Amino acid sequence: MDRRALKIPFTRESTPDWLCPRCRKGLLRFVPGKFHAEERKDSRDAHSHEAWDPDWIEYTYSGLLQCGNDNCGEFVANSGTGGVDIDVVIGDDGEPEQTWGDFFRPKYFQPPLRLIDLPEECPAPVSTPLQESFRLFFSSPAAASNNVRIALEALLTELGVKRFNTKNGKRIFLNLHSRISLLPPKYSELGELLLAIKWLGNAGSHADSAVTIDDVMDAYELIDHVLQELYTQKAKKAKALAKLINKKKGPKG
Ligand SMILES: [Zn+2]
Repeated sequence: MDRRALKIPFTRESTPDWLCPRCRKGLLRFVPGKFHAEERKDSRDAHSHEAWDPDWIEYTYSGLLQCGNDNCGEFVANSGTGGVDIDVVIGDDGEPEQTWGDFFRPKYFQPPLRLIDLPEECPAPVSTPLQESFRLFFSSPAAASNNVRIALEALLTELGVKRFNTKNGKRIFLNLHSRISLLPPKYSELGELLLAIKWLGNAGSHADSAVTIDDVMDAYELIDHVLQELYTQKAKKAKALAKLINKKKGPKG
């Protein structure tokens, strides 16, 4: 995951290296002539204010991106907000000088960027909320974080962890923390990672604590590792090999 590309605002001259969500090989670039930014009405009206400064300016933009991989060429629609901030450019005399520059922040991508690689074998109840999380990542990090938590609950169910206890015929649902502690021994090495994801998700589910996109990216990196560990062929082969060696108590011969 290229954290910098997901985090920093961009300019007309340089778009971040967003990876194509279809092929995950090519980089997305705005189709020439298909990027449009306009200053918002209230922002335009504010120019007459005596204290007006260029950094009051607010833009709305939309644009069409295309994948640079010749075998793909997927189109992705993108929209977001923008503003004006101090920029540093190299002047005619070769010296850096300060100027005002336009900066833009993405809010939506359609189709959404695939922020981590979901293995094909990853079960749908886990991958669906993660895809929903990717859709919300730029516009609402807190909602994106909640969807990671939903994926985590689903993953525990897939790994055979029960969701509730039954007492006097009533279901008493277990919280996420208790469920993680009930992971079968063969998954125990994943417990630490899952617990860390849970802590990051906690910030997202309470209105009084702001979840940042860094928190969500941390959670993606952790769950990415867990999914690769559980669901990629490479991980399965390594596990099968370890099992064989352990059974023979020596090299597989
Ligand atoms: Zn592509």
